[in-house]
Amino acid sequence: MLSRFFILLLGIILLFPPIVSFVIGKPVTLWGQPVHLTGEILYFFFGIFLIYISLFKWTLTVKRKYICPVCKEVSEQAESNEIKCSMCSEPMEELNGFYERHPEKKD
Ligand SMILES: [Zn+2]
Repeated sequence: MLSRFFILLLGIILLFPPIVSFVIGKPVTLWGQPVHLTGEILYFFFGIFLIYISLFKWTLTVKRKYICPVCKEVSEQAESNEIKCSMCSEPMEELNGFYERHPEKKD
């Protein structure tokens, strides 16, 4: 979650030079160098892109639901080979299709 926040923050920071230069009507100076129009357009679109992935794409691509076969604790985790249950340390399985694979566990 922390890295997602930093991506969002970076996106917002990247939006500043183009917005400021649009408001004041001349190129902004960044680290002693004036930012050219091409650079500002790149900052703008890259900033929008970073904000977009941090807000909308992140959870879809990175998180999945897992279930513990022992205590049936469900948790949302980043995709990984080995996910342990936080309650009983058993290896967890992906929730999607779990009851099809283990019909005996249905209650
Ligand atoms: Zn468990």
